[in-house]
Amino acid sequence: MGLGGISSNDGLPETSLDFMTEKLLKLKEPFLQSFNPSAKSRKDRINRVIQLIEENSDALHTAISKDFGSRHEQMSQLTDTLATVSHAKHVLKKIDQWMKPEKRKARFPLNLLGSSAYVQHQPYGVIGIIAPWNFPISLSLGPLVEVFAAGNNAMIKLSEFVPETSKLVEELVNKYFSEEELVVINGGVETSSNFTSLSFDHLLYTGSTAVAKKVCAAVANNLVPVTLELGGKSPVVIGDKVDMKKSVQQIMTGKTVNAGQICIAPDYTFIPTAKVDEFIDNARDFVQTSFPTLKNNPDYTSIIHLNHYERLNALVDDARSKGAQIVELNPANEDFSQQEYHKIPPTLILNPTEDMVVMQEEIFGPIMPVKTYENFNDVVSYINLKPKALALYYFGNSKEEINRIINDTSSGQAVFNEWGFQYAYDDLPFGGVGPSGSGAYHGKEGFKNFSHNRAVVKAQKLLNLWSMVGAPYTEKTDKAAKRF
Ligand code: NAD
Repeated sequence: MGLGGISSNDGLPETSLDFMTEKLLKLKEPFLQSFNPSAKSRKDRINRVIQLIEENSDALHTAISKDFGSRHEQMSQLTDTLATVSHAKHVLKKIDQWMKPEKRKARFPLNLLGSSAYVQHQPYGVIGIIAPWNFPISLSLGPLVEVFAAGNNAMIKLSEFVPETSKLVEELVNKYFSEEELVVINGGVETSSNFTSLSFDHLLYTGSTAVAKKVCAAVANNLVPVTLELGGKSPVVIGDKVDMKKSVQQIMTGKTVNAGQICIAPDYTFIPTAKVDEFIDNARDFVQTSFPTLKNNPDYTSIIHLNHYERLNALVDDARSKGAQIVELNPANEDFSQQEYHKIPPTLILNPTEDMVVMQEEIFGPIMPVKTYENFNDVVSYINLKPKALALYYFGNSKEEINRIINDTSSGQAVFNEWGFQYAYDDLPFGGVGPSGSGAYHGKEGFKNFSHNRAVVKAQKLLNLWSMVGAPYTEKTDKAAKRF
């Protein structure tokens, strides 16, 4: 399930494996001497990430717009660059606290003899970061901030779908960082695939579930531990006592910001049968107000590439051919058959069935299947039968339903009466579960995820406990066993 298999090699030459291997060795060099970079040096690096973004934000936004064909600079600023800077500032405030060793109880009776125990958070070493194209800054430099906070060096591979942004980030990183700290690698799928064969100390992969399987197979060779930030089908459940207008505004924002090309975008909606018409009317009003026109409106983002445009249109055609009712939210009744920027109007798919591809794969675009229900139990069972989602959204105010979502379902995140802002809760871990990801970043969990949490035991004096419990096995050891 999920995306993957869609590729683009427009304009980025591949980078050789030899070149990457050489760069990796350079990045590993500092760890030949120490695994204890100071808080000061970690903060300095994070400050340089902030500086890189702030001093070059216009150029970054222009490059992103160029890569998308059409994406508003302010959208990139709010969701991509500013989001990263604000997160970096949060991490800066927390580093000293996060770096502190965590005291643990020493084992009885050694504690009585002065032994102590703690968890030391030390860097893994060099962390590889593979990023997707949808928020190219926030998903590359965002996790980098935590990778640096944990004291690591990093090598980043940006997506070939955003060649202008990737080239600019490489250029800027070379200006703001030394090659003993951070390296950016560019290229297509061949480069990405070779990247996963490198012996990193940890790899963060953000992308589709389909490609994640290839990544896991590749890293197995070197037993590189991985964090997987994936996607999937994040459901929205509209429940009882719902404020439909405000809820639909949020839900359809999730399908129209970046044209729904967001990992935590609502994928499909569950709604009580009696409320479908109200949902459609509110969705229509929302689009009419936010995007009176779509095709040449710079506020409405393009689909990233012709391949994805064709994939999304094929989802709608497939659903239509299998009997779904298609409702195009196209306020100015524009003709989308001939256009420069691969735009797709927000589209509702009513009465979707399980044999439709749109209900089997992550959508990652402005298409919203709307499923109806009569009984909330059926919603819970449906969600639990499907692969665990990255996010699960509930809109409504029934305490009972909210408790059922919290207690009886599983997902990376559970979000109530809000869409998308969970990513901005800097203190909460951000990640999936099972097929939507493993490991997380953001918050203390993120710091720990990019740290080796090493067990340290310190005996106060040199005790030879083994003299009590080791061979020769006599009455003396028997007594010791009984005492334990
Ligand atoms: P993708 O899986 O096609 O590509 C992601 C990255 O993987 C790219 O840099 C690409 O070069 C690289 N890649 C491609 N083939 C590879 C291979 N064989 N080996 C190693 N690397 C390879 O995903 P995408 O289209 O760029 O992004 C969309 C997907 O990412 C969606 O599924 C979305 O849900 C997910 N996503 C998840 C998060 C999250 O934080 N959980 C955030 C954004 C996007």
